Amino acid sequence: MVALSCIDSRTPVELIFDLGMGDIFSIRIAGNITSRKVLASAEYGCAVAGAKLMLVIGHTRCGAVSAAVKFLGSRLTAAEATGCQHLDAIVNEIQRSADGMTSQLSSEPSSTEALAIVDAVARENVLRVVKEIRQQSRTLDGLVQDRRIAIVGAMYDVVTGGIEFLVENGLGETE
Ligand SMILES: [Zn+2]
Repeated sequence: MVALSCIDSRTPVELIFDLGMGDIFSIRIAGNITSRKVLASAEYGCAVAGAKLMLVIGHTRCGAVSAAVKFLGSRLTAAEATGCQHLDAIVNEIQRSADGMTSQLSSEPSSTEALAIVDAVARENVLRVVKEIRQQSRTLDGLVQDRRIAIVGAMYDVVTGGIEFLVENGLGETE
């Protein structure tokens, strides 16, 4: 398996799935987004090393997604607000999954409301990344079409420890 997951300290895929050394190819980047280098790593894991499953795993209460939502309506960029020079590269990418969703936020959202929006954007982000992996990698798309691999999205709940697998219509089963 190739797993694309967030850098969050609460989401080590090996521990979540009770796996050990030699079990998975683990790609970790804040907000579990894709890029040419992520695709190259995934292509190697699937096409060369023979992994049969690529899992894109987002999680609830994600800091990267929270930043993306927070800075969406802000006059400051993430870099200006945090002093992290390159943070906008990640935040701007995740913001593409937030279109239309933050309009559901009232001007003074309750913390529950804000958390729900962040989790909804995190979920949408996983679905978008799954789609973009196939759009951007002929290698991985070809393997899917040949039924040699599956690319699946999932959400990990950092509070309950539950995993929900996401299918095309956004509904999935919880394990
Ligand atoms: Zn995260």
